Amino acid sequence: MRMDTMKRVIASYINGHHEEMLALWERLVSIESGSADKAGVDAVAAAVQAEMEAAGARAAVITMKQAGNMVMAVLNDQAAEAPVILLGHMDTVFPSGTLAARPFTIRGDKAYGPGVLDMKGGIVVAIFAMKALQAASYRKRPVKLILAGDEEVGHRNSRAADRIVKETRGARAAFNCETGFLDNALVVQRKGSLVFQLDVEGVAVHAGNEPEKGRSAILEIAHKVIDIQNLTDWKRGTTYNVGTICGGTVVNAVPGHASVQIDVRYLEPSDREIIRGRLQAVTAAQYVTDTKSELTELAGFLPMKRTEAAEQLFAVVKRTYTELGLAEPYAQMVGGGSDSAYTVLAGVPTVCAMGVTGGRNHSPQEYAVVDSLFERAQVLAAAILNLDA
Ligand SMILES: [Zn+2]
Repeated sequence: MRMDTMKRVIASYINGHHEEMLALWERLVSIESGSADKAGVDAVAAAVQAEMEAAGARAAVITMKQAGNMVMAVLNDQAAEAPVILLGHMDTVFPSGTLAARPFTIRGDKAYGPGVLDMKGGIVVAIFAMKALQAASYRKRPVKLILAGDEEVGHRNSRAADRIVKETRGARAAFNCETGFLDNALVVQRKGSLVFQLDVEGVAVHAGNEPEKGRSAILEIAHKVIDIQNLTDWKRGTTYNVGTICGGTVVNAVPGHASVQIDVRYLEPSDREIIRGRLQAVTAAQYVTDTKSELTELAGFLPMKRTEAAEQLFAVVKRTYTELGLAEPYAQMVGGGSDSAYTVLAGVPTVCAMGVTGGRNHSPQEYAVVDSLFERAQVLAAAILNLDA
């Protein structure tokens, strides 16, 4: 088949499968899969595996003990050229029970439901892009779908990040079907993130009877919060945010315990050690005698570095948009982390945020634009053809 014929087949395949795409979207959103809900994530993995096998792809589930499973599915297994990677995740930030309050619903041009935007819609985009390529007899490269089960918690209980690096090395390109933006911004650079918890132990006593014997954990942590916020370096792009704080038990006791959680964003992979060192120094400093402080690292993402190869891949996507007569996308840097960090680490040119577009991500008001489901699937399939055009 000639390439322009293949592109026509892709367009008509997507146009002819709106019902099936919406049905799969509803099915995936209707399986709750918060990151802590292993059974739910595993059920999504099983559904995706079955869907891909039915489409004639080789699909496997990679079992994780303490996190949601991963899925890998390959089309054109035997193709000799370097593969194309479609990346994503099956877990959501929403705990079990969210679905009952907020089931998959379409109102007007928007779809609602837990994970509808981040990123069950993106999974449907990836699967139907693969099916459309198959309908167009695309055989040039293997197309490999890799979905993680614990992205929203930074793979802290699994080896998924290492696995992504290993499975994508040598690939021609990676498209991450993560949450898309309403203004068609695509992502070629992301900040890295680190999450810490700082715990302070003081001495709890009655605030009226023997206050002099108390050692206030809240006072100690109050000083430290200010130290931590002051570490922010806007020029270097490193920001520190003490996002939660708790401490004390009752108002008439000197508080014996206090803790904060800290979110740090940064641009350079090498800054990770500097950040750890600075927070350790704040932890070691003591403002209230006899208090003890401990720092725990909870999660993190490496930055997705901006590369020349990613810019070139973005140009391919942009050309695809123009060909299809769609509003031009632009490349941007965002502060939120994603698994694109790992494909970039593997040396693979990567464009992120290729999934359905929408707004209010991670909130109860999360929504996705229904038409973007079809548009993005067509763009993705056509962009894969354009890698060799
Ligand atoms: Zn996501």
